[in-house]
Amino acid sequence: MNLRRILAFAPLLALLAAPICAHAAGSGFDAEQATRAWLDTIPPEARARSNAYYEGGYWLQLADLMYGLVLAWLFLRGGLSARLRNLSERLTRRTALQNMAYAVQYLVLAALLTLPLNWYEGYWREHAYGMSNQGALDWAFDQLKGLLVSILFLAPAVAAIWAAIRRAPKTWWLWGSGIATVFLMIGIVIGPVFIAPLFNDYKPLAAGPIRDDILSLARANQVPATEVYEFDASRQTKRISANVSGFLGTERISLNDNLLKRTSPAEIRAVMGHEIGHYALNHIYKHLLAFTVLTVIGFALARWMMDRLIARFGTAWGLRGIGDVAALPLLFAVFSVLGFVGTPINNTIIRTAEFEADLYGLNAAREPDGFAQVAVQLAEYRKMEPAAWEEFIFYDHPSGRTRIRTAMQWKAEHLNDTQRTQ
Ligand SMILES: [Zn+2]
Repeated sequence: MNLRRILAFAPLLALLAAPICAHAAGSGFDAEQATRAWLDTIPPEARARSNAYYEGGYWLQLADLMYGLVLAWLFLRGGLSARLRNLSERLTRRTALQNMAYAVQYLVLAALLTLPLNWYEGYWREHAYGMSNQGALDWAFDQLKGLLVSILFLAPAVAAIWAAIRRAPKTWWLWGSGIATVFLMIGIVIGPVFIAPLFNDYKPLAAGPIRDDILSLARANQVPATEVYEFDASRQTKRISANVSGFLGTERISLNDNLLKRTSPAEIRAVMGHEIGHYALNHIYKHLLAFTVLTVIGFALARWMMDRLIARFGTAWGLRGIGDVAALPLLFAVFSVLGFVGTPINNTIIRTAEFEADLYGLNAAREPDGFAQVAVQLAEYRKMEPAAWEEFIFYDHPSGRTRIRTAMQWKAEHLNDTQRTQ
């Protein structure tokens, strides 16, 4: 379950990220010039490459939507969905079990049909840009595990939502959003303990000066040592990254091995400061709250659209009404359209939290140059200098330029700190 993908609608509260104006702190250090100097450390070929990679991603979002809609059409107009429903009715007489059986068949078939696109995006393209470490078989096995996890979550969720539709044909959208939120919460709670370890090996940080450094920063910010892990992301990718996951007691910060191997101690401290920021600012709780609002709005819109579409096309698609689980591909199609339209809202909510974590991290780790250096390293897979509209629509993190400028501004305002803290 990916919170980022599910979040689709919310108030535009997140546009408030403060604009940054650079000015020298009377020392000859100019934040704007320093930002430019960092950006210019990226060779033009590398820049062109990451621009192409990242901009290709914009089109892939559209391709994903179109592909999904064609599949939905195949399931509905092509009669595949009604056939799967009939098959599940032959398997068992209990409606809840029928609906679950339908969902399992649908998810397996949909996964097979989207395999070519997934392979292109997740395997071929990653290799073409030199970002993957994974062999084809290993990749396929990860896909299979992902499918099993999604079946485990979605089959009971679908059965629960359709039980709500049958029992409360007018208010099912409210129940449906409640059910979706509960399943998401379960996913976040058990994610770090049961799901992430299916794909990677998580262990406490290896002993050494880096570990001492990281744990010192953690202690200074009230993060217990037992909640900092490292994991072997290099199994799949060359990317450097870190994350905060978990909820209600399973919270943890995880740093990937690429980060630990490929970056300097100052960079690692800068990243750790950022992750601690997510932790300290309760971003998981805030995102969940935003998600709940978005889900309610999404389900309300979905109900409105589903009612109209089924009234108009239901018979042609072999659907017996909204209470028929064979309408599931329609629900997914409606959600993918809403999610697509809501992309800027979703990204802006996440990006704003990321900006907050950047600021927290600069104050906690006090490594503006390490932070700028990491931003440069992240340019491998993110366009560094997008137009403002691009950053607003497509970026779920501040752009590299924004991040470096934030760090240099911070540096400009803290040039005399050493004297003050001693
Ligand atoms: Zn972050």
